[in-house]
Amino acid sequence: GGAALALSLAACSGEGAGGGGDTGGAKPGDLTIGVSMPTQTSERWIADGNSVKEKLEAKGYKVDLQYAGDNIPTQSQQVDQMITQGADALVIAAIDGTALSGQLQAAADAKIPVIAYDRLIRDSPNVDFYVSFDNYKVGVAQATALLVGLGLQNKDGAKGTATGPFNVELFAGSLDDNNAHFFFDGAMDTLKPFLDDKSLMVKSRQTAIEKVAILRWQQETAQTRMEDLLTSSYNDGTRVDGVLSPYDGLSRGIITALQNAGYGRAGNKMPVVTGQDAEIASVKLINDGVQNSTIFKDTRLLAEQAVTAAEAFVQEKEPQANDTTTYDNGVKVVPSFLLPVQTVYKDDIKPALIDSGYWTAEEVAAGQ
Ligand code: BGC
Repeated sequence: GGAALALSLAACSGEGAGGGGDTGGAKPGDLTIGVSMPTQTSERWIADGNSVKEKLEAKGYKVDLQYAGDNIPTQSQQVDQMITQGADALVIAAIDGTALSGQLQAAADAKIPVIAYDRLIRDSPNVDFYVSFDNYKVGVAQATALLVGLGLQNKDGAKGTATGPFNVELFAGSLDDNNAHFFFDGAMDTLKPFLDDKSLMVKSRQTAIEKVAILRWQQETAQTRMEDLLTSSYNDGTRVDGVLSPYDGLSRGIITALQNAGYGRAGNKMPVVTGQDAEIASVKLINDGVQNSTIFKDTRLLAEQAVTAAEAFVQEKEPQANDTTTYDNGVKVVPSFLLPVQTVYKDDIKPALIDSGYWTAEEVAAGQ
């Protein structure tokens, strides 16, 4: 069915190497790389898409870049189309990590290599390589930032001067995103001793990932959940001291809910709120002392790794992995290249983000 159609359409598309297969001797200009990104609602994915495209084009490759609007059927269709139009390699950041097995089978049948970008694609033998960050360490870093913000721990890992107990609430990302589980596991392993000795308390008692996850990483959903938590668990005058948030977009929703409830005004300290991605609006909030921290993942370096991997595959070589044990997608352990991550507190904005050219000082001041 689909696979045969993919093959025949690729064969008669007459374009370059005609999709996957024997690309070994082909020139870059004859090869097309399909790049499938989840959404444009978060600026990191726009930056990712643009970086991958620019870097591939600089090497002479043709690029078919598509965004799926966080809609699973749209992403499936876009990937199907890349295959039928004769893509020679695919770079995919999946919306739902388990929803693309059909597409990946068609790609495998057409001998098109597939690189999972940032998010692991699950339940398929046809994921050839994975480029990402160390996602468990992202969660460790987020939880550590929460502990540091509360004073329970110092930045160097030593015990802090504060003893608590502190009231915290927990948020996780979208359950269909493999990364959400790694972030939450890393965070919970780090928080566990403090929850066990009760220096941290979760007043809502919502600590299971299923209870705290935010579908599709939606800012509005996080704001609503925070509002609900404030009403249900903190209407007796108890303060929220901190919120574990795995992504800047969620953090902004959480912060809005807290501000609407009076936090951040004179005498009513803003709780410690963590984040991820160094989105510009959140970097400004950190600079202004509203958000505690974010985790910076340099998407320029990730794009570079994706390009290196895609190039290796179309030259019929194996890309170099630096991790071959961590990322089991349910069918196989996918060879991975993982990049390091960096916690950014207010003091780190200049060295980590401005001096590296990720954002300018003007952008940080303006928040856009
Ligand atoms: C990415 C994060 C991002 C989140 C929401 C995750 O898969 O690893 O960087 O914050 O998706 O877009």
